[in-house]
Amino acid sequence: MNIQADLVCVGAGIAGLVAGLRAAELGLKVIVFEKGEDSSYPCNSRFSFGVLHAAHRDLKLPIKELELAMHQSMGEFSNHELISTVAANSGRMIEWLQRHGVKFIRNPARQWVFAPAKPLTSKLLWKGMGPDYVLRTLGLQLKHFGGELIYGTRVIKLFHSDDGACSGVEVVSNNQAMRIDTKFVVIADGGFQANSNLVGKYITSRHDLLFPRHAGSGLGDGIEMALTSGAHMVGLNSFYGHLLSVDAFKSKELWPYPQIDSIASSGILVDFKGNRRLDEGKGGIYLANGVARLEMGTAMVICDNLIWENAGKQHQIPPNPLLELHGATMYRDETIEKLAIKSGLPPFALVNTVNNYNEAVKSGLCEKLEPMRSTSIRPSQISHPPFFAIPVCAGITNTSGGISIDSNARVLSKNGVPIPGLYAAGATIGGLDGGVNSGYIGGLVKAVFGLKAAENASFSK
Ligand SMILES: Cc1cc2nc3c(=O)[nH]c(=O)nc-3n(C[C@H](O)[C@H](O)[C@H](O)COP(=O)(O)OP(=O)(O)OC[C@H]3O[C@@H](n4cnc5c(N)ncnc54)[C@H](O)[C@@H]3O)c2cc1C
Repeated sequence: MNIQADLVCVGAGIAGLVAGLRAAELGLKVIVFEKGEDSSYPCNSRFSFGVLHAAHRDLKLPIKELELAMHQSMGEFSNHELISTVAANSGRMIEWLQRHGVKFIRNPARQWVFAPAKPLTSKLLWKGMGPDYVLRTLGLQLKHFGGELIYGTRVIKLFHSDDGACSGVEVVSNNQAMRIDTKFVVIADGGFQANSNLVGKYITSRHDLLFPRHAGSGLGDGIEMALTSGAHMVGLNSFYGHLLSVDAFKSKELWPYPQIDSIASSGILVDFKGNRRLDEGKGGIYLANGVARLEMGTAMVICDNLIWENAGKQHQIPPNPLLELHGATMYRDETIEKLAIKSGLPPFALVNTVNNYNEAVKSGLCEKLEPMRSTSIRPSQISHPPFFAIPVCAGITNTSGGISIDSNARVLSKNGVPIPGLYAAGATIGGLDGGVNSGYIGGLVKAVFGLKAAENASFSK
């Protein structure tokens, strides 16, 4: 059976629905294919906390201010063109979403949060919460504008005409394959975090030790299809994620929160020989990427009572007291030596590590430490008992790298030329997040490229 559409979206997370709805609104015949089976399909957008931000800033800041914040947060890694596109379009995306019935609340950081806001609990709750409501609203709006949202259907292949332009997709539903002819395809499958082969190939051979802090829906079909079409990939080796208690593998109360990032980046993170291995000052996402690549895939965060009482309570879903409340493994003692014995670390090595670290903090020589300790997050001496040791793992939320696109969300080939008719949006794109410092601009905001894809397709129809 052959079906025809003007534009097909691969995936109905926020990026795919934004692309599909905008294209339908502009008069294109749209089909959004979603491999999830029904209207409650799991995806990262639905599991998210629902904070729309760019580099944690208000999306309605003046364009230049937003652009600067993203540059400061990303350093040299991010593609300037993509940063400018996010800065120039994210404010209007908020207004566009509001026009389509999406409701927001503003949090204390003036960020836009999907309403109704999620409760501040550690375990995953999504039913009836803001992100769930947003996906359902966008799905209904898509239908209202004549588009289709088809569940239980996985896009597995792209077709191109002789001149290289997109000409269709192959989908599978109930074990039946079907071809859909279309001029435009928007890949919005959400990344490859749930594909252990791809994670093993690009990120870490110890993928079995990564905690899946995600919906399990990002299988990497998008990058695989784009690669077959000759697309260029950027920064596939890093991910957005956080440090979690190792007991997240056993307890639903210990993921997706509390993140242990703030404690690790105020104290130290050591391997099981008691040695520092990473620059804690680069923050939790960087540390999660680093822990994922350690031989053991896990590490121990060491802090003192001051850090536990201050940094430990900073986050709105804080590790102090939630870790203890939910039974996470934690060790506590009055001296570093006794703490080491209790937690199974070599006492001599840990005492040595903590002493060297404290000395460097006291004398302002953190850059001389090996590895160096940068100071954009202020280091504190570990000197106020009791001391704490918390075994942590790396939780992967979504992959940071992916398909290379231009400012109109057009997929770029290895020669840097757009592949006609092929677009990508959302977490499947590369060039914004990642790099050596594992920078993070934001996940939901990458739906901006859904708007751009739809508008460019409509213009070139
Ligand atoms: C716990 C948690 C909290 C988060 N909090 C925030 C937050 O507050 N703010 C923020 O900015 N980001 C947050 N994120 C990250 C954010 O959720 C993601 O970056 C974003 O939702 C990605 O959107 P997407 O549309 O690209 O992908 P997704 O939402 O993952 O959607 C992709 C969809 O494509 C479908 N699909 C995949 N392959 C195929 C195929 N071959 N055919 C058909 N369908 C396919 C999948 O089933 C899925 O439904 C959070 C994530 C998690 C897990």
